[in-house]
Amino acid sequence: MGNRDYYEVLGVDRNASAEEIRKAYRKLARKYHPDVNQSPDAEQKFKEVAEAYEVLRDPQKKANYDQFGHADPGAAGAGAGGFGGFGGGAADFGFGDIFDMFFGGGRRSNPNAPRQGADLEYRLTVDFKDAIFGKEMDIVIPRTETCDTCQGSGARPGTHPETCSNCKGTGQAETVQNTPFGRIVNKRICQQCGGRGKVIREKCADCGGTGSVKKRRKIHIKIPSGIDEGKQLRVSGEGEPGSNGGPPGDLFILVQIKPHEFFRRHGDDIVCELPITFVQAALGDEVVVPTLDGRAKIKVPAGTQTGAEFRLRGKGVPRLYGRGQGDQRVKVKVITPTRLTEEQKKVMREFGRISGDYISEQHSSFFDKMKKAFTGE
Ligand SMILES: [Zn+2]
Ligand SMILES: [Zn+2]
Repeated sequence: MGNRDYYEVLGVDRNASAEEIRKAYRKLARKYHPDVNQSPDAEQKFKEVAEAYEVLRDPQKKANYDQFGHADPGAAGAGAGGFGGFGGGAADFGFGDIFDMFFGGGRRSNPNAPRQGADLEYRLTVDFKDAIFGKEMDIVIPRTETCDTCQGSGARPGTHPETCSNCKGTGQAETVQNTPFGRIVNKRICQQCGGRGKVIREKCADCGGTGSVKKRRKIHIKIPSGIDEGKQLRVSGEGEPGSNGGPPGDLFILVQIKPHEFFRRHGDDIVCELPITFVQAALGDEVVVPTLDGRAKIKVPAGTQTGAEFRLRGKGVPRLYGRGQGDQRVKVKVITPTRLTEEQKKVMREFGRISGDYISEQHSSFFDKMKKAFTGE
């Protein structure tokens, strides 16, 4: 930046009027604003345009630029770099400047340097199935945006912020003290401009001179399929706007997933419980279970116990940004019947009588251990 011809950047003639320059800037700023223009070099173009306009709209800077090829004859090439660096150059590189360097003043930040906007965080609760299959949706986020009325300058349309006369745009006020050891320079934030380096004489009515307004902004986002709880999505350039033509921050979306009444997530696997009757468990049955995309049949073999697990291959969660899918794991839970009728009770007692030996045989080792525990044998 800084090497291109500012007139060329704005696409205007050297004798263009202030109005023509302003119009050209507005048009290009709208065209390249990173919020609307998604092309990779838009941000760079936007910065160039902002930098060119910054100079050409200010009669003093414009005159300097026309005459010397840069806006500020004292600080060649400083503008876009972000830092004022080591003052004006070798000529007045006095003791004070060295003193200043050692005590933190050396890399004073330029109040007019482009600065990136702040990042924003947004918590989004996603439906269980949307997190699995992905979804496109609009979210509305409150955020600070550049004021349209004044294009972020904070000045009433038709007027411009003026370079602060007190600090000459540096944002810092200096007091110079002459001591026997040399010149000591103390720097403080300029009282007149509050460190911004500029003074707004007539404030923009819409933003009160701040150059930004709070807006509720609708943003279209894509939830990738297979996203899990606690993952963050980054939407670049959708944070708060930058200042002085700097790029906007990013928007981070923290994903939370609504629990499902039937399914649970276990990594890429879907886990669910399958209640079956003790008759089904004992005799075996074919059971229909719900899956994420419909239903599937499971053969429950005779003699199935509570806790037995069946796996439905590929019926789980699609792997995030990858190939394949997890499984669905179906855990059997045998339900003990309650509220039996007299007839059912009768059959059960009969069943117990017939199978009494069988049951104790099956569990003999367990019953033996239990007996030992009680009797101490
Ligand atoms: Zn405004
Ligand atoms: Zn000032």
